[in-house]
Parts: sequence; C-alpha cells; structure tokens
Amino acid sequence: MSDSRRKDSAPNRKSAVRQAPRQNSPVLMSSFYAANLFPATSSSGHSRDFALIAAVMATDPFHSFMPQALEQARQAADAGEVPVGAVIVHQGAIIGRGYNLTRTDNDPSSHAEIVAIRQACRALKTDRLEDCDLWVTLEPCTMCAGVIAHARIKRLYYGAADPKGGAVDSGVHFFAAATCHHAPEVYAGFEEVEAANLLQDFFKNRRA
Ligand SMILES: [Zn+2]
Repeated sequence: MSDSRRKDSAPNRKSAVRQAPRQNSPVLMSSFYAANLFPATSSSGHSRDFALIAAVMATDPFHSFMPQALEQARQAADAGEVPVGAVIVHQGAIIGRGYNLTRTDNDPSSHAEIVAIRQACRALKTDRLEDCDLWVTLEPCTMCAGVIAHARIKRLYYGAADPKGGAVDSGVHFFAAATCHHAPEVYAGFEEVEAANLLQDFFKNRRA
C-alpha cells in the first residue's frame, strides 16, 4: 500500500497540472501563490514547484487575464455562439483575442482558442508562440489541445473544467500522452464559477 502510494505521488513530468484554489469568488493571486508555495498536502509531488514559483515571482507581479477572456465569452453569447472566450498574452500584452465563431463562420475549428491563436500568430508573424500564455474560460477540447501543443504555448490558464468535452484534465488528458511533443504548464480554476455560469445561462436561454 505505501509503495503504491509512493509511486502515485512520484513527480510526473508529463503532467504539469497545477490548480488554482477552488473558490466561488475570483481567484486571489496571493492565495494562489500561497497554495503553491505551501501546499496543503505533498501528494502532488511536483518537485519543480519552487523553481517555477520563484521564476514567476522574479518577473512582473502576477496578473490575471481571465477577465479579458470572460469578456470575449460574453461577446460570443451576444453573437448567439457558445460563450467561450480566450486571449493570448505576450510580454504582458494581449496579442490575440477570440471567442467561439463556429456557427458564424460555418467552421467547426473556430473555437475561441484557435481564433485567438491565429490572431497571435499573425501578430508575431510566426507559427510558434513559445513565450505566450493562453487564457481561456473553459478547459480546452482535444482539437484545441492539439493546436496549443503545435503552437508551443508556454502556459495554459483555464477557467471551468469541462468533464464532457475537455481534454486536459478530463477525457484523453492530451498533454500527458506519450505522443504529445509539447505540454504547456497548466493552471486551472480561474474564475471558474463565472465561466460556468455564462455557459449554463446560455444553454438555459436556448432551451427556453
Ligand atoms: Zn476547442
């Protein structure tokens, strides 16, 4: 028993998933740091936490771009699209914005993440977004996870989990697959209640 538990808690480099505190209010960055610096349990076994947090704190103060991603999601709802929004951040500035446009574009690949990634790639004139972070209101699907890997996104921050369609911490766990050549750092749970409420309200209104 203790052996298997020890094995389970061994650091897994393919799965760099860390979660923001689960709260019903917007995530407080100070408690996000506190949770990572002083984890309640050591079961996650992430040996790189200290180096990562030190590196993050050595740069600019942490700033959440989830409000801007949520604003994109609201624009999607206004356009009659499933309300998911995303932004791409490079050196502290937003260089790509997107929301679901699948119905508007008649294009099943027009998910918020892909719309934002395309805009960011055009802005930087590259297909690699190695120094960029993606903020998205909902856990990415398999298609978007694939594009995130191809684009070499550095960090992924998402809001609500998507147990039915997600592919990061749900479903296929895309970034943990042996065939995945690039896995971003993953942080989950940012303003997840607001992100989920937007979706619930959208589908409730559509049924009404
Ligand atoms: Zn997607």
